[in-house]
Amino acid sequence: MYQSTTYTLHLRVFLGLFLFVSLIGSAQPPKYYPAGEIKLALKKMNILGSALYMAAHPDDENTAMLAWLAKDRLVRTSYLAITRGDGGQNLIGSEQSELIGLIRTQELLQARRVDGAEQYFTRGNDFGFSKSTEEALQIWDKEKVLADVVWVIRNLKPDVIITRFPPTAQAGHGHHSASAVLAEEAFVAAADPKRYPEQLKYVQPWQVKRLVWNAFTPNFTNDPPPGGNYVMAPLGNYNNLLGKSYTEIAGESRSMHKSQGFGSARSRGQRNDYLQHKLGEQAQSDIFDGVDLSWKRVKGSETVAALLQKAYQTFDAENPAASVPSLLEAYRAMEKLPQQDYYVQQKKKELTEIIVACTGLSYEGNTVSYAGTPGQSLRFYANVVKRSDVPVLWKSVQLLNTPKDSTIGKELKNNEALNLPISLTIPKEIQYTQPYWLANPPAKGMYTVNDQLLIGKPEATPQLTAAFHFQIQGIDFTLNRPISYKWVDPVQGELYRPFEVRPAVMINLDEKSIVFPATEAKTLGVLLKAGAGAVKGELRLEVPKGWKVSPEKLSFDLAKAEAEQKVAFVITPPANASEGTLKAVAKLADGQEISLGLRTIDYDHIPVQTLFPVAQAKVIRLDVRTAGKNIAYLMGAGDDVPTALRQMGYSVTMLTANELKADVTEWQRFDAIVLGVRAFNTEERLKYYQPKLMQYVENGGVVLVQYIVNRGVVTDEIGPYPFELSRDRVTVEEATVTFLKPQHPLLNTPNKITAKDFEGWIQERGLYFAQKWDSRYEVLLSCADPGEKPQDGGLLVANYGKGRFIYTGYAFFRQLPGGVPGAYRLFANLLAPVNGSVK
Ligand SMILES: [Zn+2]
Repeated sequence: MYQSTTYTLHLRVFLGLFLFVSLIGSAQPPKYYPAGEIKLALKKMNILGSALYMAAHPDDENTAMLAWLAKDRLVRTSYLAITRGDGGQNLIGSEQSELIGLIRTQELLQARRVDGAEQYFTRGNDFGFSKSTEEALQIWDKEKVLADVVWVIRNLKPDVIITRFPPTAQAGHGHHSASAVLAEEAFVAAADPKRYPEQLKYVQPWQVKRLVWNAFTPNFTNDPPPGGNYVMAPLGNYNNLLGKSYTEIAGESRSMHKSQGFGSARSRGQRNDYLQHKLGEQAQSDIFDGVDLSWKRVKGSETVAALLQKAYQTFDAENPAASVPSLLEAYRAMEKLPQQDYYVQQKKKELTEIIVACTGLSYEGNTVSYAGTPGQSLRFYANVVKRSDVPVLWKSVQLLNTPKDSTIGKELKNNEALNLPISLTIPKEIQYTQPYWLANPPAKGMYTVNDQLLIGKPEATPQLTAAFHFQIQGIDFTLNRPISYKWVDPVQGELYRPFEVRPAVMINLDEKSIVFPATEAKTLGVLLKAGAGAVKGELRLEVPKGWKVSPEKLSFDLAKAEAEQKVAFVITPPANASEGTLKAVAKLADGQEISLGLRTIDYDHIPVQTLFPVAQAKVIRLDVRTAGKNIAYLMGAGDDVPTALRQMGYSVTMLTANELKADVTEWQRFDAIVLGVRAFNTEERLKYYQPKLMQYVENGGVVLVQYIVNRGVVTDEIGPYPFELSRDRVTVEEATVTFLKPQHPLLNTPNKITAKDFEGWIQERGLYFAQKWDSRYEVLLSCADPGEKPQDGGLLVANYGKGRFIYTGYAFFRQLPGGVPGAYRLFANLLAPVNGSVK
C-alpha cells in the first residue's frame, strides 16, 4: 500500500513565502494541459535554477528574454518592477495614478501568464517622470525600496540578476537608472546578514552568482553592443513543444500592455541579445556558467533525480496518465528530502501541477453571485471532473482558513462531471477584497504596506479560497482554488471574475473635489448602494471647520443587494478662502460605521478590479474672479478640465463635429475656446479647423491650447505665428516660478497672481514646453528643475487681430481636477476676454 502523506498548506505558508498557494490565479478558467506543455514541464523538473529580471515599470521588461529563460532555459524566472507604473498615461480609459497602476499590475500578470515568468514589485510608486537617479531615489524612500529588492532576492534566490537598464543617464529616465543602481546595491546587500536583519526571521542571506545588463544592441540589430564582456542569448529560438519561438511568445505577452498602447508583433527569425558583465563571477560562454542547474543542488536527491529523468524520457503524449505512478513515486521520494529546502518546495509545487495535469483533473469553486459581505452565508458550487482512469478519491472541500470541512468521500469516475453545492459563512472578521497596497493612502513615492509577508507580491492571495482534498493513488493532495463568479456572456462567452467581499453599504460622492468660486451654497449628490443584502441606517457628512451642511443627517433604507438610493446635501462655504476634506459616514442599525465608496475597473483583457476608497471629497472655497462666461472645449486625449470649469461657474460647450463645422461667426458667442491635452496629437480634424480657430482669434476670441506631444502633431500650424515644441518638462512640482513680465494683464486681471498661486501643485509643473518661438509671442513665466537651465516656453501668449492665442505646457489638467487654488486663479485670467468685464 502507498503511504499516505499530506500536502499541507501550513507547511508552505511558513516555509515558502513566495510559493503561491494556488496553482491557478484568481478569476482564471482552469488551465489546459496539452501534452507538449506537460512534456516541457517534465523537462523543467530536472532543472534547478532561478533568474531575476529587474527594471522600473510595467512594459520595461524584455518579454523575449523572460520567455527564453522560462521556457527554453527552464529556470524559475521572475520580473521585479520597482513600481506599478502609476504615472503612466492611460490610452484605454480615464483612470489615473494608483488606478492606472492597478490596471498595469493586472496587465503584467496577464503578460506573465503568457511568457511563463512570475511578477513582483516593491513598495515604490511611479510618481511621474524623473530626470535623475538621485531624484528618483530621494522621492522613493531609498532604504525601503532597497530593502524590498533585497527581500525579493532572498526569497527567490536567483543565480543571475539581469537589469534592463544601465545605472547611467543612458537609461533615459531617472527611474530606469535607479532600478539598475538598486539592483547593484541589492546584489551585495542580499548576501550580507548585517543588512536588513529583520528579514532573517523569514529568509536567509543569499549570494547571487552574477549581475548582468541586458545591453542595448546598436539600432535594435543582432549585433553585439560596444564594450565586449558579454554572453549571447539566442531569443529567436523556436520551441517545438510549444510550436512557437520565444519572440512570438514575447509579442503576445507584450501586447497585454494595452493601457500603454504596446500591441506588439510576434516577430520570427533570429534575435540575439547580449548580457554584459557587471558584478560577481564573469560568465565566459553562457549566462549560467558555473551554476549547477541539476538536482545535485539538493543533498540526497539522487533517487528523485533518476525518477524524474525517467519520467521525462518515458512520457507518452497520447497517454499522460501512464506517467502518474512514476510521478507519484518521485513525489514520495521528494517528501524524504529536507522540506525547508528552496528547490524541494519549488519542485514539489511544480510536480503537483504535473500530476494534476496527467490525471486530467479539473476542479473549481464558483458562486452564483459575485459579491458578499462579512458574516453572510454563501453558496458555491464545487465543480470537479477527472479525465483518466487514474484512481482519485475526492475526500472533501473546505473554505480555506475556516474549520468546517464538507466531507465528500467519492471515488471519481472517468469523465463524470460533479457539481456539488456547498454552503458556508463568510467569516465576520474577513477584510474587504481590494488591492493590499491601496488599503492605506499612498505617500508620495511610496505605498504603505505594513505586513512584511505582503511586500513584493503582485496581489494579495484571495481570502475566499476553496481547498480541495484529493487522494491520488493513496497520496493526499490539497489543491487550492480561489472562489470565482463564473457566467456566460452572450458576446464573449464564458467569463470569470474574482468573488468580492464588500462593505454592507457603499457611499459614492458625485464629485471628488468641489470648488466654490463664491459664497453661494452647492448641492452634493450622494449615491448609496447596498453591498450584498438589505441595509438601513443614517448618513451624515462631516465637513471642515467653518463649513456648513444641511440636513445634518439623512436616513436610508436599501431593500436588497445592489439596491441604490440617491440623496443630496447642501454645502455652504465660509466667506473667505478655505480648503478641507469632507467625509460621508453611514451609521447602520447595529451601530457599525462605514465610510467607503465603490470603484470598479472593468476591461476585457484583465480580471475585474474593485476598490473601496474612503468616501471623501476635497472642498475648496476659492478667492477667484472670472471674466467671460461661455467656454467651448475641444477634447483631445481626455482630461477632466471641463468639469473643473463648470464648477468655477463657466458654461461649457463641448465642441462636437457639428459645432466644428459651424460658421466661425457662430463661435463668437464663446468667450474662449480651450483645447484639451494633446488635441493637436489626437484630433485629425484640427488640420482643417486650425485656420478657422485663428480667424476666431482675429475676430476677438481667446484660444487656449494645452500641451502637445512634440512628435505626431497633426499639423505644423498651431498658433498664428510659428513656435517649436520640445520634450522639455519641469518635473519638480515645487520648482520656483519666476514672473518674466510681472505687469502683464494675464498675471494681474482679474486675479493678481503671486508666488502663492504656485504652492500646492501636484506631480509636475508642466511638460512639452516650447523651445523656440516667433518674436511676436510673449513669454510670461519661467521655471526649472534643480540644476537645469530655466524653461521659459511653458506659457506663450500672442495678441492677434482683436483676440489672443495662448499655448501652455503648465499642467492645468492635473491641478484643476486636483483642486489647486492658484491654478484656478491663473486659468481664469487666461480665459478672460481681451476686453472683457470682470465678474
Ligand atoms: Zn520605464
